[in-house]
Amino acid sequence: MNSDRTRYIEIDVKSALNKVTSAQYPGMKWSLNPYRGCKHGCVYCYARYTHTFYDLDPDRDFTSIVFVKRNLPEALRADLRQASWQRERVSIGTATDPYQPIEGRYRLTQAALRILRDQLTPASLVTKNTMCLRDADLMASLHRAAGFSLCISLITIDEALARSLEPDVPSPGQRLRVVQELSRLGVPVHVAIAPIMPGLTDSEHQLRDLIQAIYDHGGRLGFHQTFKMYADTRQTLFAWLERAHPHLLPWYRRVYGAAGNAPQAYERKLAARIARIHEAIAPTQVDFPPDPVEPAGQLSLGL
Ligand code: SF4
Repeated sequence: MNSDRTRYIEIDVKSALNKVTSAQYPGMKWSLNPYRGCKHGCVYCYARYTHTFYDLDPDRDFTSIVFVKRNLPEALRADLRQASWQRERVSIGTATDPYQPIEGRYRLTQAALRILRDQLTPASLVTKNTMCLRDADLMASLHRAAGFSLCISLITIDEALARSLEPDVPSPGQRLRVVQELSRLGVPVHVAIAPIMPGLTDSEHQLRDLIQAIYDHGGRLGFHQTFKMYADTRQTLFAWLERAHPHLLPWYRRVYGAAGNAPQAYERKLAARIARIHEAIAPTQVDFPPDPVEPAGQLSLGL
């Protein structure tokens, strides 16, 4: 689980950009993730499995051992110098949060945004952390130069539930203030409700209050996604359910098993619920962003 003593290990990478080949995300060509592992420690985080590549524990080590790609700016400049580079959109933070606390020291995400702006390369970024406000002017200038959009990941406005699910992440109220502030600066901001946790964040009133709060703060709903179980997330999530919501554990065990998706009937009902709520709150704003950006930790994308 989450640790107050996170160890940061500097590594060098050959390339900053990872080619996205999954047919699941046709609009996404390139991803960029400055860090492996994430101090935020969300109990539902899919990206935990990536630590098993290094013989590390996906539960305990994912938040306590974070790899820092210290040469990421140089690697990105080299990537963008390639003759074959066509200035396609770069999706930042597809695997782990690019504004997790260590970014305050290394500023790798900030450097990447600056390089992309100078090279007139469009980008999108997903985060849960208010540290992105530090780079608000940079994001606005990248948007003017080449195109940029920010995705804030927010699954509930219940402060206590959020603290329990996402123990080291700024509160929902703080994230909504980010939405408000960056929208005011002209940065396109949308909110991803992902993952929606069955039995925890999926009720009619929870989703209505959340979507209303998004629009009240000048943002808009980007997309939503129901929780998907990855095998290496199971240990962390089940231990948390056992402690915090034991009555839900049998349902999660039965429905998700070792890994998998929520039942299709549930997905359909949830999608209809969100569409109905969204239409009632923002009937003229049902358009979705052209390029999919995804919540940190919920995509099987390159690290
Ligand atoms: S879900 Fe995102 S913010 Fe949370 S631990 Fe995973 S990578 Fe970090």
